[in-house]
Amino acid sequence: MEVPLLDLQGQYQGLREELLAAITRVMDSQRFVLGDEGRALETEIAQYTNTRFAIGCASGSDALLLALMALDVKAGDEVVTTPFTFFATASAITRLGARPVFVDIDPLTYNIDPEAAAQAITARTKAIMSVHLYGQCANMETLREVAARHQIAIVEDAAQAIGAEDAGRRAGSLGAIGCFSFYPSKNLGGAGDGGMLTTNDATLAERLQLVRVHGGAVEYRHAEVGINSRLDELQAAVLRVKLPHLDCWSNQRRENARRYDELLREQQPEFEIVTPFVREAARHIFHQYVLRVPQHRDDLVKHLAENGIGTGIYYPIPLHLQECFAFLGYQEGDCPEAERAARETVALPIYPELTESQQRYVVEKVASLAVSPEPSRTAVRSSQRSLL
Ligand SMILES: *Cc1c(COP(=O)(O)O)cnc(C)c1O
Repeated sequence: MEVPLLDLQGQYQGLREELLAAITRVMDSQRFVLGDEGRALETEIAQYTNTRFAIGCASGSDALLLALMALDVKAGDEVVTTPFTFFATASAITRLGARPVFVDIDPLTYNIDPEAAAQAITARTKAIMSVHLYGQCANMETLREVAARHQIAIVEDAAQAIGAEDAGRRAGSLGAIGCFSFYPSKNLGGAGDGGMLTTNDATLAERLQLVRVHGGAVEYRHAEVGINSRLDELQAAVLRVKLPHLDCWSNQRRENARRYDELLREQQPEFEIVTPFVREAARHIFHQYVLRVPQHRDDLVKHLAENGIGTGIYYPIPLHLQECFAFLGYQEGDCPEAERAARETVALPIYPELTESQQRYVVEKVASLAVSPEPSRTAVRSSQRSLL
């Protein structure tokens, strides 16, 4: 049996007719940028995320950059963030000449530790960039308190978390600006690159609308220097076909996660694994299902690959140790939990169309990894308690 990490064919086949009709509609209109489809999607995403404004842009990476531009982040400023995330979270900060201040993560959720974030704030801190990793919101209640106390903004990197909730509130509505990605592998994926910004602040919304079109509301007049970053009509039309199905897909992911938890408990591998921790206040939408395998992560990846099972490591090198950020002066040991997570975690296939028999096969193969005898350490530990 083959179980790829992600298979988009099932979703495509189910929506093929509708998708092709939507694409044809755009082609027939010959309107490709900033038209009706994009505006309709903006309205629909604002509704979906429970925010007042949504502004399309060219990618999730650009959304992060535009958000920081709209907040006037510039050279000399600091932005507190997590090192255990996709590269774009931090590169948006350095592209503006600002300094990413990396703080460690909560080892249970892999999201930024709010206490560590609070301690890292200085007079130069302009914002906190929180990431809702794997589809679970960071501890936003605490982060919002910290941000309010210091009168700084929170930018949510919600690229992996569309539809996730924290205490009943949707990702994208929890900070000053929410940033989404429609990269094809995301829970709501387009047919190419795409992104979206959300906010409840009318002034920020207006600012975002300007910076995505070179800073000019009137053609050929530029009040400030922006960039060109728009969501095109073809992407918007494709995403509008998919959005009504997103909640159903998220529920299937959640159900698959529950089934993995259960099957892993039943099978009891002979090495330690830790299944995902879900905070009580969270609606986790399982963009990824990530196991912690303290001793045998790399052996497990190899063993699963030999059995036709795809896995992913998100992420193997924490950002504070990336070569391009050496100038920031971080060293190994500065964020020990992020470094440990980079060594110990692995994502299993979790996409909505995954079948029960595929899941049983994956878990059977996880459990069949033979490890060299060690003082007995027992098997599946589900994380019971957050440190936060
Ligand atoms: C995917 C992703 C991004 C970037 O989105 P793109 O649309 O690929 O530019 C940013 N942050 C996180 C956490 C992501 O997973």
